[in-house]
Formats: sequence, structure tokens, C-alpha cells
Amino acid sequence: SSFDELGLSRQILDGLLAVNFKKPSKIQARALPLMLSDPPTNMIAQSQSGTGKTAAFVLTVLSRVDFSKPTQPQALLLAPSRELARQIQGVIQTIGRFVDNLIVEAAIPGGISRETGVQSAVVVGTPGTVMDLIRRRQFNVSQLKVLVIDEADNMLDQQGLGDQCLRVKNLLPRTIQILLFSATFPDKVLNYARKFAPNANEIKL
Ligand code: AMP
Repeated sequence: SSFDELGLSRQILDGLLAVNFKKPSKIQARALPLMLSDPPTNMIAQSQSGTGKTAAFVLTVLSRVDFSKPTQPQALLLAPSRELARQIQGVIQTIGRFVDNLIVEAAIPGGISRETGVQSAVVVGTPGTVMDLIRRRQFNVSQLKVLVIDEADNMLDQQGLGDQCLRVKNLLPRTIQILLFSATFPDKVLNYARKFAPNANEIKL
């Protein structure tokens, strides 16, 4: 399979060329057609780290977001640590380097101006900071169409982070597309994931 067959924009394909991704990895080849289909469907994807799962959800986000007009945020990606949030932000900026008007902000401590609040179409953050911004009305969630949760095994673990993720999700539009990615889905987490992302396509490599 090839990236050309996925209906990605010229700018995204140019970004993939620039990072020298020649063809989709296995998880990308299986997950991307499902994640990019219309109407959008939820995804629960299990794949080891190192298999290209970050690019799989980053390509979906880049493809779903309309950067042509300034709007409220359209995509939110949640990660368990600020380091991972920064890494994901970097991957979005790298693959999306040719996408016009691409701005990705990091909703991590110190990452968003208290004066202005969130101003980008894509937001990558940790759940606590994201929740704070929403509560302070510095993050308008009304236009969000994609929610990605990376390291879902950590993130959906019922205590702590799991509660925060659920609280965030409950404030988002009902029709949002939810993409859960993790290296492992222990039974308990999988059961919870199926409630969190109903009717999801499930992929396990
Ligand atoms: P990840 O599983 O997201 O940690 O990615 C593992 C590594 O694979 C990263 O260094 C990516 O840059 C690289 N990678 C992801 N997708 C591809 C691809 N389609 N072709 C070549 N390298 C890739």
C-alpha cells in the first residue's frame, strides 16, 4: 500500500516525503483507511511503540483539521506526560511542515498564555492542564472533531488520569471522533476503552 491511496492532501504527502516515510507501516496501513473514512468512526488500536503509531494518528489529525480558516480548536491530543505531549507536537510540526497556517499549541504547564488562552487549531496536552484551560474558558471545545489519547493503557487506568480523561471527554461535542492508541490493552482497560470510544474499529497487531 502507499500513502498516495489514502486521500491525503498534497501538503501532507510532501511532508511525508520530506521525512522520508516511503510507505505506510503496518499499523498505518490498517488503521488509516478506517480512521480517515466518512462518517468518522472511533478507533481502538493496539501496537507496540516503534511501529509508527504516532504518525498514524498525526496523519489523521492533519487530514481532518481545516487549517484554511482561523477557528476554535478542532483536534485535541492527550498524553500522560508533558515530554510526550512535546514529542507529539514535534511530530505534527514535522510532518505538517508544508501545511499552511499549521499551529499546534501544547496545553502543558506554562505552554499556553494565560492572557490569550488556546488559539491554535490543534492542541496537544496533558489532561490536568487541558481541564484547567476548559474550566477557565481559555479553551473553547465547541469545534473539536477529533480526540486522540496516546498511551491509553496509562491514560484510561480508572484512577487519576482516567478520571481526568473522562471529565474532559464529557465536556466535548458528542459526535467527536475518538482514537485510542496503546502498546497494550489489558482486559480491564479494554472494557473501559470500549465505553470511552463506543462502536470503535479495533486493531491489534
Ligand atoms: P512510533 O511508533 O510512533 O514511536 O514511531 C517509531 C518510528 O518510526 C519513529 O521514529 C518514526 O519517525 C518512524 N516512522 C513512523 N512511520 C514511518 C513510516 N511510514 N516510514 C518510515 N518510518 C516511520
